[in-house]
Amino acid sequence: MNQQMSVREAFIEASSFLKESNNKNTQEPSQVCRWMLEALLEWKHNDFYLRWHEPFPIEKREKWKDMLNRKAKGEPVQYIIGIQEFYGLNFKVTDAVLIPRPETEILVEKMMQECRQLWRDREPVIADIGTGSGIIPITLAVHNPSWEFIAVDISDQAIQVAKQNAKKHNVMNQIEFVQGDLLFPLIENNIEIDVLISNPPYIPSQDMKDLQIEVKDYEPLNALEVGGDGLYFYEKMIKQLSDLPKYPKIVGFEVGQGQAKQVAEWLQSLNHWNEVYIVKDLADIERHVVAIIKF
Ligand code: GLN
Repeated sequence: MNQQMSVREAFIEASSFLKESNNKNTQEPSQVCRWMLEALLEWKHNDFYLRWHEPFPIEKREKWKDMLNRKAKGEPVQYIIGIQEFYGLNFKVTDAVLIPRPETEILVEKMMQECRQLWRDREPVIADIGTGSGIIPITLAVHNPSWEFIAVDISDQAIQVAKQNAKKHNVMNQIEFVQGDLLFPLIENNIEIDVLISNPPYIPSQDMKDLQIEVKDYEPLNALEVGGDGLYFYEKMIKQLSDLPKYPKIVGFEVGQGQAKQVAEWLQSLNHWNEVYIVKDLADIERHVVAIIKF
């Protein structure tokens, strides 16, 4: 990088550096460079092409080199810039939490619709198990300012990130964060919930090797991997439901490829909900299982 380089030139140089160096990466180099530059320069997304003829600030060169080297080794761009957008909101992410995925937006949307239809006269209490960065309760809270949430995660570091996100979006008063294991904190404290939502780890250990570098070498294993067939957390949570003071009226799970039918069957076999259905994601994969009591 020379002294007088413009942002545009730095962008072109960095994109080709990444193209050559990171053949193990799957994130698109020019897209990644744009995101990293916008974060580094604190530019808004629309500023990029308007401002890219400006000189690249000399004092940011070291930081820029560091970002590029991290990306070249395979780190997800979201951890480098510390942000992932979800449902139109920016969330802080660190390597203690899973990077939010777009398919989870479909679950949030579905839960929002179902809850709004079911509870017209009072506000639901919603539990999110394995909350990670907190995207599920925080997004629902932002859009439904009187709903209440309990967000559980086994990882204290994840809870800390989720709390920061809740503060950032002004919904701390709606969400109680609890460090704990699956439904145990709710069972122990005899807490009644109306809705259970969870996107637990579901990737069987033997499939981990097939994941892209960015995921398997950087995202937290305890948010992704589970032994055996990957169904352990669904089975466990469905069993735990009968230890709650009452069954939730809605259960919504995100599941891995090929897992939806089994999870739906387990839910059906409890004979509690009158509708159990599967929702596909944009890639046409059966991605969510919803059980609901409709009046
Ligand atoms: N609930 C969070 C999300 O959907 C975290 C999920 C996880 O860590 N398995 O992104």
